[in-house]
Amino acid sequence: MKVPFLDLKAHHAPLRGHFKTAIAEVIDSGIFAGGPAVADFEDAFAAFCKCDYAVGLGSGTEAVWLALLACGVGPGDEVITVPSTFMATAEAITYCGAKPVFVDVDEHTYTMAPDALANALTSRTKAIVPVHLFGQTADMDPILKFARQHGLVVIEDSAQAHGAEYKNRRAGSMSEIGCFSFYPGKNLGALGEAGAIVTNSLELADKIRVLRDHGQARKYHHTVIGWNCRMDAIQGACLAIKLRHLDRGNDLRRTHAARYSAAFKEVEEVISPLEAEYARHVYHIYAIRVQDRDEVMRRLEGKGIGCGVHYPVPVHLQQAYVTLGHQRGAFPVSEQIANEFLSLPMFPELTEAQIDFVIETVTETVSAGVIA
Ligand SMILES: *Cc1c(COP(=O)(O)O)cnc(C)c1O
Repeated sequence: MKVPFLDLKAHHAPLRGHFKTAIAEVIDSGIFAGGPAVADFEDAFAAFCKCDYAVGLGSGTEAVWLALLACGVGPGDEVITVPSTFMATAEAITYCGAKPVFVDVDEHTYTMAPDALANALTSRTKAIVPVHLFGQTADMDPILKFARQHGLVVIEDSAQAHGAEYKNRRAGSMSEIGCFSFYPGKNLGALGEAGAIVTNSLELADKIRVLRDHGQARKYHHTVIGWNCRMDAIQGACLAIKLRHLDRGNDLRRTHAARYSAAFKEVEEVISPLEAEYARHVYHIYAIRVQDRDEVMRRLEGKGIGCGVHYPVPVHLQQAYVTLGHQRGAFPVSEQIANEFLSLPMFPELTEAQIDFVIETVTETVSAGVIA
């Protein structure tokens, strides 16, 4: 049996007719960069996130970058985030001219450890960017409380958490700005590159609308230096279609995760993901932790099971950030989980037979003791 890590073809097959109609409408409208197709998607996505405003952008990386810029983050500022994330979170901070300052993550939820914030605070700290990793929100209440006490802005990197909840609040809606990616493999993915921010602040939404369009609110009248970060209209039109299926997809992911986790409870060598009591996890990634991860992965792939590692090198140890001067051992939880994480197949169209085959194969492999 073959089990792909992700099967976008299966996900898109029932929607192809709708995509074709929507793309034809964009072609006939002649409006390809922003415009009504993007505006309609923004309205629907804001409602989905229980936020007042959404602003469509070209990618999730641009979303984090423009969110920070709109909040006034710039050279000389420090922004606290986690090393256990995709590079883009820190990259966006660096692109504002600010310095990423890392705090470690909780060893059970893999999201920002609120207790670690106090140690990272300096007089230059301007913002905190928690990451809702793998589809589970960070523990936002203590993070928001700390930020309010110290006058800091909070920006949620929600790129992996479309529809996730924290105490009945939606990912992205709890802070100044929530940032989303619609990279094709995300829970809500475009048919290309796209991203968005959501916010309840009209002022911040307007600032980001200006920044995404070369700093102009009125054509050819540029009030600030911006960039071209507009959302492609074809992506907006297709995302509006896919958004209607997101809740069902997330529910299926949760069902699949429950099946995996129930089985792995019996397997001592596997640590399965924990859904915190405050969270509704949407399992963008279903990552287990095992010893000898690389060997386990080789064996699973040998049996036709697609796997991933998110992420093998924590951001503070990336070569691109040697200038920050972090040593191995600086963030022990992030470093340990980077060695142990193994992402198993997870997408709505997975079948029970496929999940059971993955469970069987993982169980066999780790129980046999893989150290050759
Ligand atoms: C995917 C992702 C991003 C970047 O999104 P792009 O659309 O690929 O630019 C940022 N942060 C996290 C946590 C992500 O997973």
